[in-house]
This record gives sequence, C-alpha cells and structure tokens, in this order.
Amino acid sequence: MDILQSQELYLSIFENAVVAIGVTDKNGNYLLVNKAWCEFMGYTSAEAKTLNVMDLTPPEDRLTSQNTFDILISGKQTPLRKRRRYLRKDGSIFWADLYVSAIHDKDKKPAGVLGIFTNIDREVKAEHAQNELTGYLEKLSEDLQNAHAAMSNKNAELQKAYTEMEQLARHDALTGLYNRRTLDDIIHSEIQRSIRTHRGFAIAIADIDNFKKINDGYGHDCGDYVLKSLALIFREQIRTTDTVGRWGGEEFLFVFPETTCEGARIVLERVRETIAEHDFHFDNRDFKISITAGFSFHSSQYDAGIITKEADTALYNGKNNGKNQVVCFQAECTDIEADQ
Ligand code: GH3
Ligand code: MG
Ligand code: MG
Repeated sequence: MDILQSQELYLSIFENAVVAIGVTDKNGNYLLVNKAWCEFMGYTSAEAKTLNVMDLTPPEDRLTSQNTFDILISGKQTPLRKRRRYLRKDGSIFWADLYVSAIHDKDKKPAGVLGIFTNIDREVKAEHAQNELTGYLEKLSEDLQNAHAAMSNKNAELQKAYTEMEQLARHDALTGLYNRRTLDDIIHSEIQRSIRTHRGFAIAIADIDNFKKINDGYGHDCGDYVLKSLALIFREQIRTTDTVGRWGGEEFLFVFPETTCEGARIVLERVRETIAEHDFHFDNRDFKISITAGFSFHSSQYDAGIITKEADTALYNGKNNGKNQVVCFQAECTDIEADQ
C-alpha cells in the first residue's frame, strides 16, 4: 500500500503539527482541532467542539473577524493570511499569524474553514513596543524642536527688550540725547583717554537764557519744543567725535576730546551763534532764544567733579555778564596742547 494513501499518515501530521490547526463548519463552529491548538488555546479538544470562532475572538475584533469569515465562506477570496488576536480559555489574549482557507464539499461549495496558526505574540508585542518607542521619540524630538524654536523666539524678544531698555537707560526721553548717567561714563572714558594720549580735552555746559519766560509765556509744550530743537542743532554743529547730552533741565553738557582750548571755544561760539540766529516757530509764534556756555579745558586735571564744576562756574560768569556768550574757565584761553 502506498504510504501516501494512508489516512493514519495525515492524522499523525495533523495531530503532531507544531502549528495549531482547527476546522470549523460554515457557521464557525469547531469540528476538529489538533494538540497544538489545544495547547495554544487552553481548551481540550472536546471543549473546542462546543465553541464558535467568535468565542475565541476578543469582543473588539469580532466585527473584522466575522467579515473575514464571511469572505471565506462566500468564496470571494481564499486562502487568506492575516494577523489576529485570540482569546484563550483563561481570558488572556495573544497574537497569531493565521492562515485560513475555505473547505469545499463535493459540489465544490464552501462548507467550512480550515485555520492554521502560530503564536507570534512576542514578536508583535516587541514590534508594538518598538513603534511606540519610535513614536515617542519622534514626538519628543518634535517637542524639543518646538521648545528650541520657542526659546529662540523668546531669546530674540528678550534681546530686543534688553536693547530697548539699554537705549532708554542711556538716553533722555525728550531730546533723544545721552542722559546724565551716560555723560558721566563718557567724561570718565575721556579722562582715561587723555591720561593715555596726553592730549587735552574740554567740557562745556550750555544753559538756555531766560528759558522760564518761554515756559511761562508760551507754555511748557513750547519749552519742550525748544529743548528738542536745540538737541538737533547741537548734533548738527559738533564733530562726530564730540559728545552732547542733556545734563539736566535746560542744561546741556558737551565733551570735546583731543581738542585745544581755542578749538573748543570756536565750536561753542558757532553753536551759540547758530542758535541766536535760528528762527523758532511754535503754535503760530515766532521767537528767538540764546544760550550761554561755560567750558573748561584740561590736559592734566583729571577729576571729573572739578572739571564740570569749573565749566559751571564759567557758565555762571557768562550769565552774570549779560548771557548769550561763551566763557572759558581758564583765564587765558590759549592754544595749549598737552603739557607733557
Ligand atoms: P537763565 O537765563 O538764568 O538761565 O534763566 P532761566 O529762566 O533759563 O533760568 P532757570 O534755570 O531758573 O529756569 C530753567 C527752567 O527750565 C525752569 C524749568 O521749569 C525749565 N525746565 C527744566 N526742564 C524742562 C523741561 O523738560 N521742559 C520744559 N518745558 N521746561 C523745563
Ligand atoms: Mg536757563
Ligand atoms: Mg538752568
């Protein structure tokens, strides 16, 4: 007898296969299962015969499973291979790699289903964990990128705010000129430079003559307009290396680096004259103003307090002497360079 014709051979293959094999009728009721099937599912083969495919399918997968089963039974597609989850007798669930095909009766009509599967729970779970990890890492990387972009924006905003703050802290709000704090810094730097280079420098303080009359007669806004106009004229008239700032109220301070006493006087005279000749217009009023300036030249005196006090004294003298003039603190305003 041909061994391949022996039914025992097929029963033995069926029974001893390491893959689970189950056969159902066309309604999904189990007719036959092998040993591996029983081991995977936790049921005896007698219990299996009381079960339907849906009993072994987790509730949330039942709709998809039923669809697959219907496709097989309708003969539309067979065989099929797919991953699916099984519900064991003890309630636990595992992933299986399932190969299913329809079984046909002698009229070639689908009469049931043959299912063969192996347990791939570990692989699928590892895959899921891997996907989850990849997703988590992608999300983390995206979050980091967003956080980095947000930080860069915040940094730029902070930088801008800081620059604006610096600008505000160093300048006078009304005239846009350097404020007193900045002028103090500039005077000290100039003193250091003079010590290094042995070159003289001058510091001047200019004060608007009879400014109270402008404020009282034409209003405070007109006074502000004069202060702003003077700031523009001062900036136009001095060298880029010179400095002018608002010393306080209606007083302005000038620093003339690397100059002579006479050089400082020439610039201040030019400024004074320009202002005296300037026609001011505000609120349909035309008027003139003048300034008085006092200055002090040094090439060896390095006390900022003393130098500004001297400029102030010269200014005071100019006011007492009739205003609209430039006065040097030093009795002899000569063309002295450094006394080295
Ligand atoms: P003098 O010729 O002696 O300098 O007389 P003056 O009227 O200019 O003298 P004084 O220094 O007494 O007056 C200065 C005035 O400057 C008083 C003050 O109200 C005004 N002032 C100070 N700061 C400002 C300001 O920011 N805006 C305006 N509009 N006025 C100011
Ligand atoms: Mg004044
Ligand atoms: Mg004053």
